[in-house]
Amino acid sequence: MPSLRTRAAVTVLAAACTTGLALTSAPTATAVGEGPKCCTNGTVNTSILHTYDSMVKELEKQDARQPRMQLETIGQSVKGRDLKLVKYVGNPANPTVLFMTQQHGNEALTTEGALDFIKSLGQGKNQRILDKVNILIVPMVNPDGAMGDVDFPLDDYIASGGRNLTRYNARGVDLNRDHVAKSQPETRAVHENVLQAYPIDYAVDLHHQGTRSEAGGELVSGSILYPTTGSVSPDLVQRSQRLGGVVYNAIEPTGWGHLGKYVGGSADTIARNGIAAQYGIATLLFEMRGMSDHEYASYVLGQRSNGYLIKQTFLTLTAVSTAIGDGSIDTTSTDFWNTLPEQQTRQE
Ligand SMILES: [Zn+2]
Repeated sequence: MPSLRTRAAVTVLAAACTTGLALTSAPTATAVGEGPKCCTNGTVNTSILHTYDSMVKELEKQDARQPRMQLETIGQSVKGRDLKLVKYVGNPANPTVLFMTQQHGNEALTTEGALDFIKSLGQGKNQRILDKVNILIVPMVNPDGAMGDVDFPLDDYIASGGRNLTRYNARGVDLNRDHVAKSQPETRAVHENVLQAYPIDYAVDLHHQGTRSEAGGELVSGSILYPTTGSVSPDLVQRSQRLGGVVYNAIEPTGWGHLGKYVGGSADTIARNGIAAQYGIATLLFEMRGMSDHEYASYVLGQRSNGYLIKQTFLTLTAVSTAIGDGSIDTTSTDFWNTLPEQQTRQE
């Protein structure tokens, strides 16, 4: 079922990561096939994003500079790209948090933000975070999709810039529907060599959704949700809601941040539910606004928004790591969930 060969199936699954919208004023009307200026907030040019190779080069540079960082390979993608794990495990007695980015290859700014976070852990005040928490980061879980190196046609993809980015892996499988079957090498690597290999307490799964999600009448910068499967305990849900509270408290005061409650399903096949159910890890899904490429113009966001979305990832990773390390997550209020508006898709 995760493998989708028909256009109809692609459409249904694409909608799942895609209910969101934005903070700026009225988005302009768009249509598929209008080229690089099709979309809200500027041109869509993938050449400004890290490629898989340039990401690995940056990770290797940081690994050489940062004595506390370890860079490992946890497996290979369908097309043979090494899947990377960035590890900061200073003290086994400390709690451990996992961040994953870009299971969907066209949701790229989360990886850009994670790279900024990794750099910050080697310099300045963020280094101190590592005294109290162990951090695992799997950036670009789907490198073949991120590079458009896939075994299906990309004719309808919108972005310019020399490459297209796809939600699916090279075989057309949605990795974030594969967390029970683990049929793909990328999902297996994450489960066998990360989730089953470390005592992880918390995990944040970072995505992007469409550009038209709003909450409380205002376009969102992102939306969040805890596990909603029936397979987890109320205590685990509460710990996950506190994780959301840490993110909410970091993003809402920025002025540009506006979060909604993501409307998501209960299936264990998705990471937010499946990782919680299988390992007892408190999880949070964070769906940021707008994708870097897609077949549908309303899902794609122009690059003028890149700055605050990369910052949103950076602030999230910094705040979550800090709160887990200093224990403040244990007293973070979950009351905001009672009034956090569910996001809706703006109709225009
Ligand atoms: Zn996604």
